[in-house]
Amino acid sequence: MAKVSINLATGSIQKEEVIVGIDLGTTNSLVAFINPDKNPQVINDTGKGVLVPSIVHFGPAGEITVGNEAKEFLVTDPQNTVFSVKRLLGRSYKDIENYKDFFSYKVIDDDSESLVKIKVGDKFYTPIELSGLILKELKARAEHALKTPVNRAVITVPAYFNDSQRQATRDAGKLAGLDVLRIVNEPTAASLAYGIGLNPEETKTIAVYDLGGGTFDVSILQIQNGIFEVLATNGNTFLGGDDFDSAIVDYWIEKNQLNKSELLADHKLAQRLRLKAEEAKKAFAYQSMVNEKIDDIWYTIDRNTFEQLILPKVQETITCCQNALKDAKLDISQIDEVIMVGGSTRTSLVKKMVAEFFGRPVHNEVNPDEVVALGAAIQADILAGNRKDILLLDVTPLSLGIETMGGLMDVIIPRNSKVPTKAGRQYTTSIDGQVNMKIAIYQGERDLIKENRKLAEFDLKGIPSMPAGFPKVDINFLLNADGILKIQAVELRSGVKQEVEVKPTYGITDDQVEQMLMDSITHAKDDVSQRMLIEARTEGEQMVYTVERFLQKNSEFISIAEISETAGYIQRLKEALTSGNKDLIHKEIDTLNEFTRPFAERLMDQAINHAMKGKSIE
Ligand code: ADP
Ligand code: MG
Repeated sequence: MAKVSINLATGSIQKEEVIVGIDLGTTNSLVAFINPDKNPQVINDTGKGVLVPSIVHFGPAGEITVGNEAKEFLVTDPQNTVFSVKRLLGRSYKDIENYKDFFSYKVIDDDSESLVKIKVGDKFYTPIELSGLILKELKARAEHALKTPVNRAVITVPAYFNDSQRQATRDAGKLAGLDVLRIVNEPTAASLAYGIGLNPEETKTIAVYDLGGGTFDVSILQIQNGIFEVLATNGNTFLGGDDFDSAIVDYWIEKNQLNKSELLADHKLAQRLRLKAEEAKKAFAYQSMVNEKIDDIWYTIDRNTFEQLILPKVQETITCCQNALKDAKLDISQIDEVIMVGGSTRTSLVKKMVAEFFGRPVHNEVNPDEVVALGAAIQADILAGNRKDILLLDVTPLSLGIETMGGLMDVIIPRNSKVPTKAGRQYTTSIDGQVNMKIAIYQGERDLIKENRKLAEFDLKGIPSMPAGFPKVDINFLLNADGILKIQAVELRSGVKQEVEVKPTYGITDDQVEQMLMDSITHAKDDVSQRMLIEARTEGEQMVYTVERFLQKNSEFISIAEISETAGYIQRLKEALTSGNKDLIHKEIDTLNEFTRPFAERLMDQAINHAMKGKSIE
């Protein structure tokens, strides 16, 4: 084990380089850093403001705009304007199928557990690439404002993000040319911004209430010895300030006796109502009434009416707080502090009801839409070793993971994780009747295992013969305080099990660790694009395998014409697979998928669905 301060402060990167903190939000994103006076400060790139709307627009000539300028296109060019991409990060289509209507742009529907993709024009983007574009814009703004290169960052994620969403966030950072030192929970960052958790002697239980543009979550954290433990989280991923705006819009529609469907068809007017509603909502912070008439429409509402309109929504967030406390097995009296996060906590009714519920004044001294980024900057400063008063915990200097299809590294324990730690993931087979599974364990930051350091390899033998995609193999990594890594693989359907132990730090010097980190930074962009090509190729190969097998088994149910047309699409996909062009591969996968989907539906054959599930290992 090494202390973070040693490993990260060396190499060709200058010691004084700023490390930024980034709040990559669903609605807005922003960057903060520690200024020369040692205080956290948000970055305001001249004239552009602090908050960058998390929106990406693709112009007709392939030009990409991010932020406020992209926001304008939400109404005029919805198909080419991607918003709320954070909701899709690390998610499979199955995860989001219930709310696909929410997106005005095209989310690819391949009915499987593979990761979601977005189609804009005839190009395909992963949520990682889109988030990468937002991060790239943030990086550029920080560089412009600070007049120095920015290469390292701490990025925040909601406490409820799972492993795959966290990994996706890391990859997005990499793609933007950022070395992501750590992924930090948003409530943890908010707490740090209030100085809570900076004193290792103090023990506290806090509630962090985060009401943003479209999402709400509340987290109960226990802080002990400088370690933040999430005791419970609760919330609603479709409740936020946008709902307050819609409530006002609906009220005006009724008061002005407008026809809702006609109005929605008139994009310009619909957008004006929405903007006016947001303005009114914000104005209630300092006035109790708004009243304006434009083009025969009255934009009139008073604060009392507004509060009545949003009361049920706010009540719902209070119920979530109640549930979180229940899950954490805590009584309200055991909460030491309540922190308000997210732009929507500026609404006074929200503040009032939360304070009433917890029976204490809430913290809102720090700007609620900046507090997470500010805390992330503090975390970055701690990791840089600039805060000598803070104990640095033992961490893993390099990521630990296994080889998956195409020679890719699948990280199970990311670098800079505190030790001891455990993590795991489920895998499946890629071919029918596969009875052995090779499990190769690697250490390092590169996307291709051949660039990383191999720690061990074993075969999980005796998997009962099943169709591809059926076995469920859980792989668990347990890294104890002495730095011993125990790897356990178990096939859940049969109980077949195997274990090995290695010591990742054995036989590797600090210099070598540093070299590996440096290489990963230099090669980050190439690595991620290679990974995406390999992933596309693997998905394509799997698709060819599945469809060919399906046709063989079920040819009698499919017409001759359909079979030959399918063969044509398969051929085109096979050609794309050799092209090295990931967009082309995705396009052909999509075409083949669209064409063959009715076959599967027709036959109600489970096998094809199952075969497409999960990641596979060779
Ligand atoms: P997210 O974390 O989801 O990216 P933010 O924390 O930036 O979002 O919150 C954005 C929301 O905050 C928007 O709905 C916006 O209208 C709302 N908001 C911003 N300022 C105010 C204000 N003064 N009063 C009420 N709501 C506000
Ligand atoms: Mg937020």
